[in-house]
Amino acid sequence: MPDVNWYGEIAETWAPGEDGARARLDSFLSSAIEHYEDGRNRPDRNYVSRLSPHMRFGEISPNQAWYAVLGDRSVDQIASGPDRFLSELGWREFSYNLLYHEPSITSRNLQRKFDRFPWRSDDAALTRWQRGETGMPIVDAAMRELWRTGYMHNRPRMIVASFLVKNLMLHWHNGAAWFWDTLLDADLANNSASWQWVAGCGADAAPYFRIFNPVLQGKKFDPEGIYVRRYVPELAQLPNKHIHSPWEAPPEVLHAAGVSLGDNYPQPIVSLKSSRQRALAAFKSLSPAR
Ligand SMILES: Cc1cc2nc3c(=O)[nH]c(=O)nc-3n(C[C@H](O)[C@H](O)[C@H](O)COP(=O)(O)OP(=O)(O)OC[C@H]3O[C@@H](n4cnc5c(N)ncnc54)[C@H](O)[C@@H]3O)c2cc1C
Repeated sequence: MPDVNWYGEIAETWAPGEDGARARLDSFLSSAIEHYEDGRNRPDRNYVSRLSPHMRFGEISPNQAWYAVLGDRSVDQIASGPDRFLSELGWREFSYNLLYHEPSITSRNLQRKFDRFPWRSDDAALTRWQRGETGMPIVDAAMRELWRTGYMHNRPRMIVASFLVKNLMLHWHNGAAWFWDTLLDADLANNSASWQWVAGCGADAAPYFRIFNPVLQGKKFDPEGIYVRRYVPELAQLPNKHIHSPWEAPPEVLHAAGVSLGDNYPQPIVSLKSSRQRALAAFKSLSPAR
């Protein structure tokens, strides 16, 4: 993995403590919350609160955030951005409620039929995913953001998680463990519930057949490739059209951008099409829960 200036990256990204948490909330309320409804899906923009590490360490409570957003208004009087933000705080409460009533969610599939899922074991693939060397630009950008800053935006969290459990067909435990080790906001309730949700085995989970396509996700939520260019500088010179799927770029475009696939940036670790079909077949092989 490339050397990281941990101290510099963390100091630049975070101001730990109650004052830092309050400043983060104030800045979010004054400049971003109105854009949150759509902006929350854009890892290339600065429209989320980044309060999660502060909440994780108790430097600010969900209650404080909730009432700072509401002020003296009622829930029916707020705009869609603030309303959506409050509902995300609600998802956090939901995860905590799940963990309280079902402490085994940290390790056991909530939907027991997934106990029979034919997960693969592939240490080399897991290492490439952890290091951000899968050859899928948005997956790699996200995994490197995590490694460098201790944070990953929610949209790419869903993309990298889907890629691990569906395209690579590796057990969600592997992803949850890596997030647990590397996220500053690593939280037993949110992490466990979210991994189970993406894997399809959780409460109210994303259906298993909902497999995120990292190329389409990248084009939709990082249309100019700003996020990818920030964390995957090897690809920075590629035009927008090819930034999310360099393997589809003509050789002269790759050459002009200084990209040599398999040399200074990996070939895709899997074919999106065949890995999707493999995952769907594995899912269909599960017999109904007994
Ligand atoms: C695979 C996966 C693993 C995750 N692991 C964690 C984890 O370990 N710790 C963690 O705090 N969150 C986790 N999340 C949920 C979510 O990604 C983060 O809470 C969010 O990205 C934190 O950034 P933020 O503070 O800028 O969020 P904002 O969008 O600003 O949301 C504000 C707050 O609402 C809560 N929240 C937002 N989205 C969710 C969500 N989907 N589920 C539950 N609570 C939410 C968080 O407390 C967050 O700080 C995970 C999501 C996925 C898909």
